[in-house]
Amino acid sequence: MPEFKRPKSKEEFDINFAQKKPLMNDTEAYYESSRCLYCYDAPCVHACPTHIDIPLFIKQIHTNNMEGAARTIFDSNWLGNACGKVCPTSVLCEGACVYNHQNVKPIEIGRLQNYATDGIIFKKTHLYTPGEDNGGSVAVIGAGPSGIACACELRTLGYTVDIYEAKEKPSGLTLYGTAPYKITNEEAIQEITYLQEMLGFNIFYKSPITTRDEILNLENRYDAVFLGVGLGTTGTLGIKGETLDQVVGAVEFIEELKINQHNINIPQRVIVLGGGNTAMDAASESARMGAESVLLAYRRSQKEMGAYKFEYRFAISSGVKSLFNVKPLEIIGQKRVKGVQFIKTHMKNGKLEDIPGSEFVELCDMVIKATGQGKQLSFFDLIPGLQVSTSNQLIVNDIYQTTHPKYFAGGDAVNGGAEVVNAAYEGKKAAQGIHRYITEMKSNHR
Ligand code: SF4
Repeated sequence: MPEFKRPKSKEEFDINFAQKKPLMNDTEAYYESSRCLYCYDAPCVHACPTHIDIPLFIKQIHTNNMEGAARTIFDSNWLGNACGKVCPTSVLCEGACVYNHQNVKPIEIGRLQNYATDGIIFKKTHLYTPGEDNGGSVAVIGAGPSGIACACELRTLGYTVDIYEAKEKPSGLTLYGTAPYKITNEEAIQEITYLQEMLGFNIFYKSPITTRDEILNLENRYDAVFLGVGLGTTGTLGIKGETLDQVVGAVEFIEELKINQHNINIPQRVIVLGGGNTAMDAASESARMGAESVLLAYRRSQKEMGAYKFEYRFAISSGVKSLFNVKPLEIIGQKRVKGVQFIKTHMKNGKLEDIPGSEFVELCDMVIKATGQGKQLSFFDLIPGLQVSTSNQLIVNDIYQTTHPKYFAGGDAVNGGAEVVNAAYEGKKAAQGIHRYITEMKSNHR
């Protein structure tokens, strides 16, 4: 019996995907903020990639200074609301909270961050204004977290900012790639709408930049270009059967689910291949969509999984079963997938090896491959002089400038695939780098 009933309406979908970090009410926020010790040199601040002054905003919440609290958060992180919801707080700020040393529940920093920013966004309280027009203009490719953060920062510095986004909506992976129980589509879009109305950057939707001419056009029209293009589609495993019906990439599966919600039909038996956080999300989501059985299959041991422990626990609590040390050999089926043939693996002399004769088949109606995303190499090729590392990540310097001086970059294309909070930080820092670059360029031409 599946743990979850198949959702047939938006209401049923929302019940199955109830928020993991629901919004605090006033009493909860007052109590929780009173527990903070307002530590000197607070470890939670060091653990936050954007270094939000956490004790300060918690104190501001406690003294009912909500605008002050929201400003403290947005000063460091333009996506402070989304990050409160989607950040893996138990391994970042909350994981560093001093209460952990005393076996006391750490302060719920993420939920307090949402409490402080939700009301401000809902009331459309404008805490910032665009900087005085300095005559400069910047093109941003991609309206994901790094692109939006870059645009916000540039607007406060007085630049005109045009964002070119391939999809119909903003937010990138926050909207299209984050599990619905972490953030709803409405919440993701509300924060971007709030920032856009307050700071006035332009977003051109359904405007992919895919040709050398389009790139040249941007290069000629703008003083600088920011690349917030993220990663590509799910990579291939290189095994037979990957093109069968109902063999899908995890990123594509999660996107489809985020957009079409209860309208998508999940088959009875699902196998998810992979051991990272995306695999955990795809497995949890399949179970919450009412699949009868969801099997997570990873070629190494449980200890070697890349996924956070809490993400694995959440998948298991959603009814997902797991198999470790199994490698897919072939996806079986005629036109449509019928199962996966695996072989068992073990470590021998520090190397992962197949165990001869241990092949077996697990039947299923759908395979979700969560085995990593490709890089945007064909896009990078459009820009001569752009260099990538051996792992195909864009190379940038300390101001997030690429090896082509007019191009800056941040987010997954640079870090290889990290959290929304890392992208938000890099987008903001890149904007400051762009400002330095344009200022120096203009002063050299005087
Ligand atoms: Fe408050 Fe914990 Fe941060 Fe200390 S470490 S300031 S108690 S949230």
